[in-house]
Amino acid sequence: MQLIWISGSTDRVRKINITAQSIAKLVAIVCAVMVLLGAGIHFLGLRIAVEVRPDLARAMGGVVTEAQMLAIEDGYRQRLEALQSQLTSVSEKLNELKTLKDRFADIATPAPVKSKLNDKSDGKGGPFKPIQFKLNKPASLSDDLDHTLNTAQLLHDGVIKMSATWQNQFAWLNQLPIGSPIEDRVGLTSNYGPRVDPFTKTLAFHSGIDFSAPAGTSVLASGNGKVMKVARDPAYGIYIEIEHADGFMSKYAHVRATFVKEGQTVTRGQKIAEVGSTGRSTSPHLHYEIARNGNAINPMQALVYYDRVANLK
Ligand SMILES: [Zn+2]
Repeated sequence: MQLIWISGSTDRVRKINITAQSIAKLVAIVCAVMVLLGAGIHFLGLRIAVEVRPDLARAMGGVVTEAQMLAIEDGYRQRLEALQSQLTSVSEKLNELKTLKDRFADIATPAPVKSKLNDKSDGKGGPFKPIQFKLNKPASLSDDLDHTLNTAQLLHDGVIKMSATWQNQFAWLNQLPIGSPIEDRVGLTSNYGPRVDPFTKTLAFHSGIDFSAPAGTSVLASGNGKVMKVARDPAYGIYIEIEHADGFMSKYAHVRATFVKEGQTVTRGQKIAEVGSTGRSTSPHLHYEIARNGNAINPMQALVYYDRVANLK
């Protein structure tokens, strides 16, 4: 085939011979250019995408370079390590808290039932083992993350269990007569044990402790319990008996007025009476007794300063 045309400016006649061979050559060149152009656009497009929208570029087909991947992984690892050290510090704080709680519980538990404290505590009684959030050996990011998540779950479960145990322990302590039986116990006049009886002037066993206080001072339940007796007796005068947990009984004597009835439940710190001088008493005071399973015990063994106990709340 032959193409003939006339050049506009010079009016010269031009002609080209088109052969099958020259067409094949042209097609090959055009194809090569198209492929190169396509590849160029593709490459350029992804380069831009990687810089502008890395997530999109990744989605378009694994085009993140090794360096970029390492940088991304490094970012995640740094965040994971921060999380691990935070969790480690949380578990350490929990250990400190448990030690503190054990000390308070020990102070607040009357000597006759100290052994029971261990039954009520978290099994072994000792501190938790320190929790290891970091793997000892270097591991892949995903293994390390899995380990951290599993350990955090264990910590969470442990805290839930611990919280239930502590609540039981606190409820138990609340039922023991360990609080102050009087609003303002400044005048402890007579201690538990043998003493000269102020009436008979002979040696007699004093089965409680006396708090001298102005008539009308509030008498308080020393622990949660049930009022078993509100009565009058020639020796004790007007008195109240409260039954607590674990065989404990507390008794408040010589009061002038009572504010509870038999069978009523009371909580620690509740006003149950007012100091008086009824019965065998020389001046207004509260005679306070504690018995366990029917045997008198020294109230000083059970009495805990109320402000210390309050810290357990
Ligand atoms: Zn007394």
